[in-house]
Amino acid sequence: MRSGSTPSPLRWHPVTDLSALSPVPPGARDAVLKFFFGPMDCGKSTLALQMNYNHSRQGRRGLVLTKHDRSGGPQVTSRIGLGLEAIEVEDSLDLVALVTAHDSVDYLICDEACFYTVAQIEQLADLVDDHGVDVYAFGLASDFRSVMFPAAQRLFELADEVCRLQVEVLCWCGRPGLLNGRIVGGELVRTGEQVVIGDTDRSPVRYQVLCRRHHRSGLLGEGTA
Ligand SMILES: [Zn+2]
Repeated sequence: MRSGSTPSPLRWHPVTDLSALSPVPPGARDAVLKFFFGPMDCGKSTLALQMNYNHSRQGRRGLVLTKHDRSGGPQVTSRIGLGLEAIEVEDSLDLVALVTAHDSVDYLICDEACFYTVAQIEQLADLVDDHGVDVYAFGLASDFRSVMFPAAQRLFELADEVCRLQVEVLCWCGRPGLLNGRIVGGELVRTGEQVVIGDTDRSPVRYQVLCRRHHRSGLLGEGTA
């Protein structure tokens, strides 16, 4: 043992908050547009909240956006009980103007992006390419008819990365749940408005995740009709 308090020759990076995440300097890489999609209950909003948490812990500044959240208010809520205040994306909202009105935005968390307008998806691409903002979009790919939402289609066309989330959400038969069925009066319906909010006390509409086979056949399993 040497006497005194000779400093170690090793230079450790200071640990400020016991986080495994390191700060990311601005402009370290190209911004990205990523789309995470999957059926209801696959954990999209939970991942959106986790993504926001990680980026903000790394000292990055972000905005959280949503539309038609299950809570009915301007916030992102997940089925496992997490929640966060968010900006409601009205059809008339210009997302480039929204971001440039803020001081400095490093990233956007866009929950329920399937319900945005196609013009707003173009604005997200502009934000990535012209403003260096990372965009993480989350949403359903297809509607109750198994037809793609226009905004989701545009995200498939424009995103740098598309990722299917499959957090073990299963059809009643045990197969992977891929599609969202709209149920009215105990029957699977195949016509109607593309966006109808369901699963609330006031709504006669509910949604059920089904495998492709049972979305196509309309069989809803015992005890679910
Ligand atoms: Zn099935």
